[in-house]
Amino acid sequence: MTSPIDYHMHSNNSWDTRVPMEEMCKAAIDKGISEIAFTEHFDHFTENKTKTAYVPDTYFEDIDTNRQYFTEQGLNILAGVEVGEYHLYRETVQPIIDGYEYDVVLGSLHWVNGAESVFQPHYYDGKTIREAVIPYFTEIVEMIEGGGFDILSHMDVFKRRAHLVYGKFDIEEFETEVRDVWQACIDNNIGIEINTGGMRWRVNEPHPNLTALKWYREMGGEILTIGSDAHNPADLGYGLDYTMEMAREAGFKALARFKKRQVAEFIPLT
Ligand SMILES: [Zn+2]
Ligand SMILES: [Zn+2]
Repeated sequence: MTSPIDYHMHSNNSWDTRVPMEEMCKAAIDKGISEIAFTEHFDHFTENKTKTAYVPDTYFEDIDTNRQYFTEQGLNILAGVEVGEYHLYRETVQPIIDGYEYDVVLGSLHWVNGAESVFQPHYYDGKTIREAVIPYFTEIVEMIEGGGFDILSHMDVFKRRAHLVYGKFDIEEFETEVRDVWQACIDNNIGIEINTGGMRWRVNEPHPNLTALKWYREMGGEILTIGSDAHNPADLGYGLDYTMEMAREAGFKALARFKKRQVAEFIPLT
């Protein structure tokens, strides 16, 4: 079954992507996906200031141009953003989030303490897996409790790298921590995504995997979206059929459709 949505992708409005929005839109149409969200990186580089900053005006011009062209071809384009470390940069971030018409705002933790990227191998130097991972979970709960976003992105994104460093990763060792993350999401009315980025790494599972997704559902979690985290047209829609199967298996009946930062409706997973 083709996925109705892909709510996590990047274009050249993100510092780590060169592909124009138009090419991503064409790929979505080719793959039969009818609603996508461009969730560009809104990051704050404390060390490397040469990386391009997020420019909302350029982004929204791009969104408008592509909507004008692709809406009549049956593609619905949502204005999204992936805010990194919201809790640390609230003063800068909040006015932008409030000042533009976003449909869906993702919250992500890529850097621990705003300084150490969990994608860098040296983050793990001299640490056991627990020593590396527990600070991530502690900070992500803090970020969720601060709020400001609609969907928590890739809850265990560090496993892409941790799996390579430690030669394994098993979420069951972190059940308590993951349940704390899910509880914070539920208490703060923040949904979660199944992000298939991890399926393209050696760990070969999405964020979260089925086990962790079941915990969220069991605990009463309801707001769920799916996204490929594509940074190029080939990855767009990647693994989303698998995530729908996974969602059904975890007990979900529907995915959430967003508009103007609200759940506009639930799309049945039939
Ligand atoms: Zn991310
Ligand atoms: Zn992303």
